[in-house]
Amino acid sequence: MATPARRVLKSVFGFSSFRPHQEEIVSAILSGRDLFAALPTGGGKSLCYQLPSLLLEQLTVVISPLIALMEDQVDAARQMGVPAAYLNSSLDAESAREVYRGIRSGDIRLLYVSPERLAVTTFRESLKEWGVSLFAVDEAHCISEWGHEFRPEYRNLTVLRREFPGIPVAAFTATATPRVQEDVVAALGLRDPLAIRGNFDRPEIFYRVRRKDRVLDQIREFVRGHPDEPGIIYRGTRKAVEETAAALQRGGISAVPYHAGLSDALRRTNQRAFVRDDVLVVVATIAFGMGIDKSNVRWVVHGDLPRSIEAYYQETGRAGRDGEHADTCLFYSPADIARIRYHIDRMEVAAEREQAEHNLRDVLRFVESGACRRTQLLRHFGQDHDGSCPRCDVCAGEIVLTDRTVDAQKVMSAIMRTGERFGGHYIAQIVTGVGDERVEKFGHHRLPTFGVGADHGKRWWLGLIADLEAAGLIGRRDGERSGLELKPAGSDVLFGRARFETRDRSAEEGDAAESRPRRGRGAVDGSERVASREAVRRGGAKERGVPAPGDGEAPVWRDDQESLFQCLRAVRRTLAREAGVPPYMVFSDRTLKTLVRNRPDSTAALLRVHGVGERKAERYGEAVLAAIREFLSSGECPG
Ligand code: ADP
Ligand code: MG
Repeated sequence: MATPARRVLKSVFGFSSFRPHQEEIVSAILSGRDLFAALPTGGGKSLCYQLPSLLLEQLTVVISPLIALMEDQVDAARQMGVPAAYLNSSLDAESAREVYRGIRSGDIRLLYVSPERLAVTTFRESLKEWGVSLFAVDEAHCISEWGHEFRPEYRNLTVLRREFPGIPVAAFTATATPRVQEDVVAALGLRDPLAIRGNFDRPEIFYRVRRKDRVLDQIREFVRGHPDEPGIIYRGTRKAVEETAAALQRGGISAVPYHAGLSDALRRTNQRAFVRDDVLVVVATIAFGMGIDKSNVRWVVHGDLPRSIEAYYQETGRAGRDGEHADTCLFYSPADIARIRYHIDRMEVAAEREQAEHNLRDVLRFVESGACRRTQLLRHFGQDHDGSCPRCDVCAGEIVLTDRTVDAQKVMSAIMRTGERFGGHYIAQIVTGVGDERVEKFGHHRLPTFGVGADHGKRWWLGLIADLEAAGLIGRRDGERSGLELKPAGSDVLFGRARFETRDRSAEEGDAAESRPRRGRGAVDGSERVASREAVRRGGAKERGVPAPGDGEAPVWRDDQESLFQCLRAVRRTLAREAGVPPYMVFSDRTLKTLVRNRPDSTAALLRVHGVGERKAERYGEAVLAAIREFLSSGECPG
């Protein structure tokens, strides 16, 4: 049945079906009910309030935390013909007056504002005068101190219920923890809200975790494995951001840094260059991300251990918003743990410290465990998965688990017998049986554990010690008597009450390649799988039958299709430049792929393509149809 909402979905947004929960949310909003919706990043939350704004009687006001986010959303909405505008401190007086005029005349239906703006009494008076149909609070987790992105200005929003008691409020977030939900519902005073928690699975994302081993090289390899694809690299410190960006630039890769130490102007320039596909890679601290709606981010790399699963999930979630395949890789080392611990130790509020400790433990369990990554991630959000996704390193058979109980016992026994006073190097020395003056001074060469592990080298034992530490079996003692000590979980293994399994690191060190099932070639960074996908995209005939990303029917992507895709990308770039918006706002990657498959030859055919609404057809249709025509007749690309 073609409800008004469905009609608008096709004619304005160019989509033929709703994503999960969108329709339910839209009808709740249209019926005036309060709402709390937790949908994953890329789940399509904007549409849930943009679409109703076209059907509601009066103004829809969206509260959004970042100026850049508002600007992008308004640009994207206008591309589709949704009459939107924003009011924030970046507007000069004349532009603001113009927005006010637009609202009064009814030309503007969707208004984005900052929480600071809502704190201004005279502005609220204006809202009352204009009449508001809906308040939509985007990134609503910002109101919660328990969220990972608390913003004090969001506390201003308690004013909504007080001063606009009759107007429905709809809260949206990608943060799924129940605690945040409770906070948001309470702070906004939502009344019997329709509470939606979407499926947080992002099947298009491939999850992979690797031990660091010259991480700059690993990152460079990864990026080389994704030619022409935009991506984000997260690093834990500003210094690491700068180093990584410089290393990529030296390698001829267009990359820009982004962190809080750069000037506002430079940050804006770099972000813009990335969003507009002018550079392919942004290397950033966690300061980067919220408000990046760029839908064609094809990969996300973590060059250091993230602070929490929640943060990791949000950050990786920035890849593949368009629903096309996306790749991720997390590199970590025990030094990362030390860096995070250092910060934790300096936290003053006990509750925060505990939370941070807890987060770190979760992250360590995630990276070290040999269980399906997706299952672990979803369990973190209280959602089930059957434990075998085909799209993570564990399920893809890249991770080999080996029973290392006996070796773990050797290490921990050495730690115990030397009095829990020594670091990893010394312990490895004892286990491998390498004596020196110090060993003899302590008489440790006479210990029964001395030399019990001579079958492996020192580096191997250092790796195992790191695994034991990451798994929480042993820990580092601080202060005067620094050294490795046994944790309760370690005692369980030492005394035979539990087993210890870990990933087979020898494969990653490259000296036991034959022990890696289902992976023949050498790449440890994921470039192998990507290489084959690239081959498909680039039309490798030998790869026939391999599904093209994002399509259920697994058609083959041929050479000529790849050429047309590249041609349409060029055309998109030109159109975007002329329109002054990022390319992804003109057409998503998915739209381009559908154009390549369907090769529309008329406006009617064009309007059937995913993501092409009436406004876009009107604006860009001629250029696109002409490009396809010309490409088909002459093989030339006009773009
Ligand atoms: P979120 O805010 O939930 O992270 P967005 O609102 O930015 O997600 O939407 C992510 C992408 O999904 C956008 O590119 C948007 O155009 C697309 N999208 C939204 N709804 C649909 C739909 N019903 N069908 C296809 N694509 C959609
Ligand atoms: Mg959003």
